[in-house]
Amino acid sequence: MWNCDWEYENQETLRQWYEEKLAGIRPNSIVRKIICKGCGRDFYTLIETKKYCYYGLCGNRGYQKDLKQRRLEKRQNRVCKGCGKVFTPKRSDAVYCCNACRQRAYRQSVTDKASDQIEHLQ
Ligand SMILES: [Zn+2]
Ligand SMILES: [Zn+2]
Repeated sequence: MWNCDWEYENQETLRQWYEEKLAGIRPNSIVRKIICKGCGRDFYTLIETKKYCYYGLCGNRGYQKDLKQRRLEKRQNRVCKGCGKVFTPKRSDAVYCCNACRQRAYRQSVTDKASDQIEHLQ
């Protein structure tokens, strides 16, 4: 059985297999090269789902990094639907930069609906 520990300790062997695969000596080998999401190093693996060089070392770190990144992206560069300004939302579902914008937008939508109705009546 292949496992993380074995692969981690036998990178030289796996790299050789990978090169042999590229050279056509091992066309059926499942060995592949990945870039560890944790440390960014090249890693050679036979495990299909692998994303990190060594889970205990980079798996958690990479996961945390991913999570942090996603959270940051979520909270950045949102454009206020009211005034068009870019703002950093305090809540992930915020669409307006401030209460004033939200209220103005709300009033606007009420007015729109009202004028719609008037048009329909005419
Ligand atoms: Zn790593
Ligand atoms: Zn605004």
